[in-house]
Amino acid sequence: MLQVVPVKAFKDNYIWTLRAGGNAAVVDPGDAAPVLDYLGKEGLRLCAILATHHHADHVGGVAALLEVAGKGVPVYGPKREPIPTLTHPVSEGDEVKVPEIGASFSVLDIPGHTRAHIAYYGAGALFCGDTLFACGCGRVFEGTPEQMYASLEKLAALPDETKVYCGHEYTLANIGFAKAVEPENRALVEREARDRRLREAGRPTLPSTLGEEKATNPFLRCRQRPVVESANKYLGERLGAPAQVFAAIREWKNRF
Ligand code: ZN
Ligand code: FE
Repeated sequence: MLQVVPVKAFKDNYIWTLRAGGNAAVVDPGDAAPVLDYLGKEGLRLCAILATHHHADHVGGVAALLEVAGKGVPVYGPKREPIPTLTHPVSEGDEVKVPEIGASFSVLDIPGHTRAHIAYYGAGALFCGDTLFACGCGRVFEGTPEQMYASLEKLAALPDETKVYCGHEYTLANIGFAKAVEPENRALVEREARDRRLREAGRPTLPSTLGEEKATNPFLRCRQRPVVESANKYLGERLGAPAQVFAAIREWKNRF
């Protein structure tokens, strides 16, 4: 059975460790030290590294991991991003097989946060880096809001029960913003109570599910009337397309 365990890094990053038997793959190792610690403590052998995008807090630990945990470990990551440590550049339509842990993932192109950001989807799990966050989304650094919105819509089309493993613990702050956009959303209020308890107990709020995200994440709710109305009020004009609504609330969140 595949187990997914968070290894904490920096202030609020999660390096997701996928383990089965004595093997482990890691997603977005921004720092090698906590991963090496975990592998050592658990007696796990590193079998693959998966990267979602080129930011240092996601790939900064790859070189040191390869050096210490062994040569020959495949490093998957976005084909069109500058990551010198990649051995297997991948993009939409590619399949990443990790036989050591009995798992296989489809690669999805989800540009917006960065130019060629990718997600890995398989075993009922979605590793989406800094694109979709629990109750939020990443900043649009290298793409356009239209691209980012299309990427989020692509992820939202996956099954509701899909587990969402994103790159950061930003959930409570994101819920604070979501409440400003949709103060009447009951599911949001319930989610806040639950996630607050998790954080108070020192536990991650992740994974969430796509079903929960569709019910509470304003960036996946750009067609819902309350979200459209809040976006209109924020900009003082009537917006048409959902991508425009998305752009407005993303801008609002940047200043929130
Ligand atoms: Zn990033
Ligand atoms: Fe990040």
